[in-house]
Amino acid sequence: MTRNAAQEKSLRNFVLGDFFGDVACRHGHKTRLFNIGRGHYVACDECRTYIFVGSNLMSCWRQESKDIWQANYDSVHGYEFIE
Ligand SMILES: [Zn+2]
Repeated sequence: MTRNAAQEKSLRNFVLGDFFGDVACRHGHKTRLFNIGRGHYVACDECRTYIFVGSNLMSCWRQESKDIWQANYDSVHGYEFIE
């Protein structure tokens, strides 16, 4: 056993890595990171789930528009939000 259990945090199908953008799906699905306003989220389109990973941790959201955030919000419509 070399793995430190305390460092392997997970939320349902998501396995959280060392930093907020390093999130994987435990089923090997591709995940995507997106912003809604200053909030950062990671979704798995296969599992139809998404999680909140933090806010204002990177500045790219400032270059985005309300249209982009609306589209991102719509992209996870019907998905389960995991807290
Ligand atoms: Zn998945």
